[in-house]
Amino acid sequence: MSGIFTKIVKGEIPSYKIAEDEKYYAFLDINPLAKGHTLVIPKKETDYIFDLSDEDLAEMMIFAKKVALAIEQVVPCKKIGIAVLGLEVPHAHIHLVPINTVYDIDFKQPKLVLSAEEFIKLTAEISSKFKA
Ligand code: 5GP
Repeated sequence: MSGIFTKIVKGEIPSYKIAEDEKYYAFLDINPLAKGHTLVIPKKETDYIFDLSDEDLAEMMIFAKKVALAIEQVVPCKKIGIAVLGLEVPHAHIHLVPINTVYDIDFKQPKLVLSAEEFIKLTAEISSKFKA
C-alpha cells in the first residue's frame, strides 16, 4: 500500500507543490515551523534516507539546494536550515526551514497555522523562483 507522500506525488492527496523533476518532489509542510517550510522527497518510496544510493542521495540534495535558493528569495531569513528526522512519515524527506535562530528549527516549537490563502501565496511565490 502506498504511503501518504507517495499519494501526494501521485496527486491522490493534494499538496502545495513547489517543484518537481523526474525523481524528486518538493511541497510545503502542512504543519510548518516557519513560513516556507518545505519538504523534499524522492518520488520512489524509501523509508530511511541513508538507504538511498549515493547517487540518489546526492541528486536529492542538489534538488533541495535549488528549492532552498527559491525559498530564501521569498522568505526573509538568515539561512535555510535543513533537517532529516523521518520519525513520523516513513518516506525519506529533507526539511528545509527558513531560520534566523536555532529555535526556528526546533521541532518542539508550536507549529504555525497558515490559512489556505497564505499557503497558496507562498506556493506561487516560491515556485516562481525555482530554477531547474
Ligand atoms: P518527520 O517524519 O520528519 O518527523 O515529520 C514529517 C513531516 O511531514 C511533519 O513536519 C508533518 O507536518 C509533515 N506532514 C505529515 N503529513 C503531511 C501531509 O499530508 N502533507 C504535508 N504537506 N505535510 C505532511
